[in-house]
Amino acid sequence: MDLDTRLVLLAQAAIWEPAEEVSPAGRPGASLMDCIYEASVQGRTVRLLKVLLTSACERDCYYCPFRAGRSFRRATFQPDELARVFYAMYQRGLVDGLFLSSGILGGGVRTQDRLVAVAELLRRRYGYRGYLHLKLMPGAGADQVREAMRWADRVSINLEAPNPERLSRLAPHKDFMGELERPLYTAGRIRREEPPGITWSGRWPSLTTQMVVGAAGESDRELLATTARLHREIGLARVYFSPFHPVPDTPLEHLPPAPPLRARRLYQAEWLLRAYGFRFEELPFDETGNLPLQEDPKLAWARRALADQPVEINRASYEELVRVPGIGPKTARALLQARREGALTRPEGLTALGVSLARAAPFITLNGRRPAHTLPLPMDRS
Ligand code: SF4
Repeated sequence: MDLDTRLVLLAQAAIWEPAEEVSPAGRPGASLMDCIYEASVQGRTVRLLKVLLTSACERDCYYCPFRAGRSFRRATFQPDELARVFYAMYQRGLVDGLFLSSGILGGGVRTQDRLVAVAELLRRRYGYRGYLHLKLMPGAGADQVREAMRWADRVSINLEAPNPERLSRLAPHKDFMGELERPLYTAGRIRREEPPGITWSGRWPSLTTQMVVGAAGESDRELLATTARLHREIGLARVYFSPFHPVPDTPLEHLPPAPPLRARRLYQAEWLLRAYGFRFEELPFDETGNLPLQEDPKLAWARRALADQPVEINRASYEELVRVPGIGPKTARALLQARREGALTRPEGLTALGVSLARAAPFITLNGRRPAHTLPLPMDRS
């Protein structure tokens, strides 16, 4: 199979891997250009090629299209082949970034060596200075994690599930703690304790992970408990929640797909943890341990916590203001700035500063009085 054909096959295969905030997020088309995504990376837009080093895999995870024994057209690159074809695309101005993952062939350790080899070739032989997101493989050792972090801007490992029990329903031959969490915690420790002098950029890469949603009977509470722990303990930049899609000819082909709205609510809840100072215990789970689907978690929390204890706009701290639906970080800062110049007295003044009164009014007072409002209907915004 020639290099171009392999490149298209392995880029198409990488659609299953969540990476950055990419657009378009749909299934790629037949051409290589259909497999290049616009990704939001560190505040800038990067044209990202997502690609696998190989779509062959010796593991048999129950949900995965690449599992051993499943029949489809597989392809493999040698590290120097992939480094060469990617760098040629970069030189032609077609891409600015690379997301590189792989099936497992010859063990996780050997596969990790091959991924690191691509990264090192790009940085050292070709002088590549673009964005690089490199996957950590199950079972990668501490030295390999450090080498991956040396060349990448972001590293990640797919946990697949929030805990060992749930993982056993998706990938019974994977060891949650030993193979998956350990490399992630190693990366967190390296970031925390070691000087980044060996890295190509002078700083350690960010860390992310991915969990499959809706295939193992897991609740949102389980997914977000692990998310909150990883944010707290290793400074994880973010978690990608992949809604489960049944793949023909896999043991989970009979399960229904997970609703994309569930993943959306999980992302919104994760954002409350990361950016709004919410604690895990405050997230508005229902009696089944799930977030309500019909309204965003910030609004669901406010209905419980603020309906009888509204936030006084003229006295509240920044942390209190950003918890009000209809007030985001920018608006909270604008409110504080306006307050320094004099008390806020009129609801129209709040609107001018960016407050969505339709959402905020039931949960605030202005000089002790609630602005006129009708209770918001369940809405799909934070
Ligand atoms: S190890 Fe990864 S690529 Fe291989 S079957 Fe499991 S999830 Fe799929």
